[in-house]
Amino acid sequence: MTQFIVLGAGIIGTSIAYRLAEAGHAVTLIERRHPGAGTSGASFAWTNSNEKTPHHYHHINVLGMRAHRSLENEFGARPWYHGGGALEWKSDPAEAAELAGRVERLQGWNYPAEWISPADLHKLEPALAENASGGAQIAYFPDEGWVDPTVYIEFFLRKARALGVVLRRETVNGIVLRGASVTGVRTASGGTIEGDVVVNCTGRWANDLGQEARLSFPLAPTLGLLVTTMPAASGIRRVIRTSGVNFRPDGAGRIMLQSEHDEARFTLESTREDTLPAAEAMIARAARLYPDLADTAPEAMRLSLRAIPGDGVSAVGPLPGIDGYYAAVTHSGVTLAPWLGRVVAAELTGGRTEETLKAFRPARFF
Ligand SMILES: Cc1cc2nc3c(=O)[nH]c(=O)nc-3n(C[C@H](O)[C@H](O)[C@H](O)COP(=O)(O)OP(=O)(O)OC[C@H]3O[C@@H](n4cnc5c(N)ncnc54)[C@H](O)[C@@H]3O)c2cc1C
Repeated sequence: MTQFIVLGAGIIGTSIAYRLAEAGHAVTLIERRHPGAGTSGASFAWTNSNEKTPHHYHHINVLGMRAHRSLENEFGARPWYHGGGALEWKSDPAEAAELAGRVERLQGWNYPAEWISPADLHKLEPALAENASGGAQIAYFPDEGWVDPTVYIEFFLRKARALGVVLRRETVNGIVLRGASVTGVRTASGGTIEGDVVVNCTGRWANDLGQEARLSFPLAPTLGLLVTTMPAASGIRRVIRTSGVNFRPDGAGRIMLQSEHDEARFTLESTREDTLPAAEAMIARAARLYPDLADTAPEAMRLSLRAIPGDGVSAVGPLPGIDGYYAAVTHSGVTLAPWLGRVVAAELTGGRTEETLKAFRPARFF
């Protein structure tokens, strides 16, 4: 039996650990903080393949969306998933033109994308103001949704533990090699954990494991700012994307907001005082569309880095010239996780090469 070591208990690591254990293998999952402590716990978590290009990257995100759907058949329920589609309109003319082009491209790729009327918008989201779209064309993407990543992670971790997966709370600070083969990892507590295959699922920290340069590949992270409101009487059900702000429910009445326009001004060191004015402005912009949100205070402002490999698309596969070291690092990881869990475990345990992953191998960086 192969002994696997999966690094990082985020949405990707827990998905892969579970599928490896399901295939009958011994798995140690190593996490330095609590499960979900990384980017998965600070994500907009919209399941989509909406702005994903080129086509092969769009395609794997569609496979991720399908895999989310099939989890319901597999487990009988998926309490982490919220479907019903996503809605988008743009008041800014340049952004409206981009949206029109995108809808046309997505329809050409057979991705469910349609234009709906303001009356249809009101039926889908009655809590929005009557004139929320202000005359802009309204796009509806019925197959999209959003996820509570920590609920997903807890579920997969529980299932994984039932199959014998051991979660160890350790910080990995070195990969142990014998020649060109991985034999385990070193931890900050001074120990070594032995294994035949190490799967690096540490996301944006993927190059910070004290490893040699030949086990690293370029990352080009961008900073995200997510604002969560205090609990409010939330009547919004879907992901809503507009020129000034994107928002969706975030459980127990909270609304999560995000705006690409505001993010560039901040760094990971920005304080609550730095981000508060932007958070309040985002809530005010959303309240023009969704009046019940007016005067709701921000509860949390979360700054996190998107785990984006150097050329913008996923990095999934073995590192060239090394036996027993595999990376699964990607943006859009909430969408991709259930699919990646299956195909990565199948590659690692069945010796079968997943053709759809060919364009995403880390080897392209070497
Ligand atoms: C602002 C923002 C918005 C996003 N929106 C979306 C979206 O709408 N839809 C979507 O699909 N995706 C979205 N993403 C991307 C998505 O959240 C990530 O791709 C996904 O969460 C990555 O999951 P992961 O498991 O790879 O990484 P993580 O969740 O970061 O997990 C990695 C884990 O590794 C652990 N770790 C790190 N170093 C070590 C070490 N040395 N030793 C032990 N453990 C270690 C960390 O503590 C962490 O728990 C967004 C990301 C951001 C930042």
